[in-house]
Amino acid sequence: MSAALRILVTGGAGFVGSHLCDRLIREGHEVVALDDFSTGSRANVAHLLRHRRFRLVEHDVSQPYDLAVDRIYNLASPASPPHYQRDPVRTTLVNVVGVFHALRLAEVRGARVFQASTSEVYGDPEVHPQPESYRGAVNPVGIRACYDEGKRCAESLVMDFHRRRGVEVRLARIFNTYGPRMALDDGRVVSNFIVQALRGEDLTVYGSGAQTRSFCYVDDLVEGIVRLMEHPTETGPVNLGNPEEFTVLELAEEVLRLTGSRSRIVFRPLPQDDPRQRRPVIDHARRTLGFAPKVPLRVGLRRTIEGFRSALGQARSAPVLAPPESDAPLPQAANG
Ligand code: NAD
Ligand code: UDP
Repeated sequence: MSAALRILVTGGAGFVGSHLCDRLIREGHEVVALDDFSTGSRANVAHLLRHRRFRLVEHDVSQPYDLAVDRIYNLASPASPPHYQRDPVRTTLVNVVGVFHALRLAEVRGARVFQASTSEVYGDPEVHPQPESYRGAVNPVGIRACYDEGKRCAESLVMDFHRRRGVEVRLARIFNTYGPRMALDDGRVVSNFIVQALRGEDLTVYGSGAQTRSFCYVDDLVEGIVRLMEHPTETGPVNLGNPEEFTVLELAEEVLRLTGSRSRIVFRPLPQDDPRQRRPVIDHARRTLGFAPKVPLRVGLRRTIEGFRSALGQARSAPVLAPPESDAPLPQAANG
């Protein structure tokens, strides 16, 4: 194991963030998860709250903060289309101002920053599959722009802090990732289909279901994230995802098979600007990081279905978690 580090994970109570916190705690680091619980939940990190090297702090990353850290994983942002379209102005600001505060903190504290960017920077891609050199086809005035352009602007801030201010940065473009702890009301396709199948409701396929996505199991993604952060020189951007590509209809059928559900598949209108195809080229990650996703869709879906079965059981009895003692606000950093 590498030397113990002081690590901040913004969005640490979210789906990916909580799995990342688990991994970093297992490696012996000190971890502070910072979250405003807008789309994540305390329940995702409830099992870590008593750990002496873990702290959970409620804070909105669009406000400045200060903390002595060596590493900052900046994951705070709504991620599912229904979540990020709920308050689009806020989505843009959280991404742009949030990464600015993470970069300022890194500059002041001499820390390294990982930025969770997204395959959405490629928009509805005309190049398939998508290498990092592809510059994308985002509709800058559409309903996804708040997220896509917010993340694109964040990428430019990351690289300018690196070039002009010498901040150590690591930039990953994350492709569709799934696993246990996705919010039940998340609205993304994997969680929607599993929840619908387990509840015996219709599976809602948007459009014809011929659009494609490539689904990465969360453990594989976390492996790639940590490898990139600890790489001595690679700044990115680096695509992280699983290059196996499926249509949305194939995914629905697989979920029905694996759950044994008798739900029906129904078709609903395709949302505006929904990308028709998506698959990462991960040659760069393979070469520089030795990144190689291991979990096939069927195996990952089985694990995710188990996670959702237990989450749905608990949701019925609605547990209320007490706020932890370590929930004090952080002192504010000088800004600018
Ligand atoms: P998530 O919604 O489960 O997690 C996001 C977390 O950020 C939540 O805990 C939420 O409460 C927190 N958050 C949101 N706004 C905040 C704010 N202003 N201040 C503090 N905390 C805030 O989503 P996720 O799938 O875990 O996504 C994590 C990151 O990875 C996001 O930045 C997302 O854009 C990126 N990403 C995820 C995927 C994916 O498929 N899961 C794909 C591409 C990029
Ligand atoms: N989708 C769907 N049914 C749902 C949710 C999503 O058919 O209940 C489709 C959506 O239109 C898109 C794909 O599944 O084509 C992936 O959607 P998701 O919201 O998971 O992520 P995206 O990759 O679009 O950001």
